[in-house]
Amino acid sequence: MTYIVNDGCINCKHMTCVEVCPVDCFYEGENMLVINPDECIDCGVCEPECPVDAIFSEGSLEAATAEMWIQHNRKYAEIWPNITEARPGPEDHKDWEGKPNKLEEHFSEKPGQGD
Ligand code: SF4
Repeated sequence: MTYIVNDGCINCKHMTCVEVCPVDCFYEGENMLVINPDECIDCGVCEPECPVDAIFSEGSLEAATAEMWIQHNRKYAEIWPNITEARPGPEDHKDWEGKPNKLEEHFSEKPGQGD
């Protein structure tokens, strides 16, 4: 079992989650974070840290949705840099909270800065 980040993170990217992960398994894209499902130990401490509720336990999601997000998180965790220290998020993060279709319309495949 793993936790995943979904598209609620896109352009919000608060990064408070990365500070609490005991195994440092967050990876940073240009406008989103992901969790490496193969490194996550399913501890759950990151979930309440996310102010926009973009982190979910695999087991809390419908199976097909969970699988889609696990694949997304794994794919980008393999190519984006590791992130363990939070930086300030985007200044306009409030404008992006709860926006629909963020994955389809706003997701960037580009890597973030990392640590
Ligand atoms: Fe890290 Fe635990 Fe969150 Fe997995 S559930 S990403 S191990 S803090």
